[in-house]
Amino acid sequence: MGKLDGRVVIVTGAARGQGEQEARLFVEEGARVVLADVLDEQGEAVAKELGEQARYVHLDVSSEEGWTAAVAAAKDAFGKVDGLVNNAGILRFNALVDTPLDEFMQVVNVNQVGCFLGIRAVAPAIAEAGGGTIVNTASYTAVTGMAAVGTYAATKHAILGLTRVAALELADSGIRVNAVCPGAIDTAMSNPAQLDPDADASEMSAALDELYRKLVPLGRVGRPREVADLALFLSSGDSSYITGQPFVIDGGWLAGVSIV
Ligand code: NAD
Repeated sequence: MGKLDGRVVIVTGAARGQGEQEARLFVEEGARVVLADVLDEQGEAVAKELGEQARYVHLDVSSEEGWTAAVAAAKDAFGKVDGLVNNAGILRFNALVDTPLDEFMQVVNVNQVGCFLGIRAVAPAIAEAGGGTIVNTASYTAVTGMAAVGTYAATKHAILGLTRVAALELADSGIRVNAVCPGAIDTAMSNPAQLDPDADASEMSAALDELYRKLVPLGRVGRPREVADLALFLSSGDSSYITGQPFVIDGGWLAGVSIV
């Protein structure tokens, strides 16, 4: 018995990183998963590896038409949709006063508009299926500030607002909506060496662990599978009485600072 037997879940940004781990874990737990991303080659490869329980669809989460097509593709492949993980996201580094409007809007369009469109497109299908779950991917920077990533932090704060309002509005349809708030996780977003075939990503992972040894109580960077475990909890019956909440997964980073 898997924790997601019989479920059909769309995971965005599933070609790599946390989304890929979520797709893999959800399939292991019995779900059929639609992996959505703009990285078609990588997404197709992961879906192929996962076999009959998985499909890949091209989806730019900032596109209304894209969402309509993705929901249709999911229903076509698996007959229904009763889960969504809004995971796709991008990060840009800049001081607020140096941030061009184009850059600000690019991040808003993917992180914030993408999450809004996902809820709007998928919630009716989940209601039609008799209820289910939505997990939005916010961030540690949804609950505190962080210099140099102001645009990103603003969109992640907004995702918590969307999560709370969606939870209120969709509870009557049997839909629970929660958010994960990861700290630093060892994916290409925090560890760009993973994207460079000439770089040693494990060396960079070790450097990240060293950096976070000082910053977070648990003394290391997080692993994408650990976030997938939280997304599984929030998508399964184990969290049946939980909705509208942010779940921080950060090795204790937000707990405070140590002066010794
Ligand atoms: P990642 O960069 O490896 O993965 C992001 C995925 O989103 C990629 O597959 C990318 O192609 C996809 N994507 C980007 N723009 C898209 C679009 N317009 N439409 C569809 N897909 C798109 O990084 P990750 O760490 O796996 O990021 C997953 C989520 O976790 C993001 O929302 C990110 O903001 C959030 N997050 C990451 C960290 C971290 O330290 N890695 C911390 C907190 C939150």
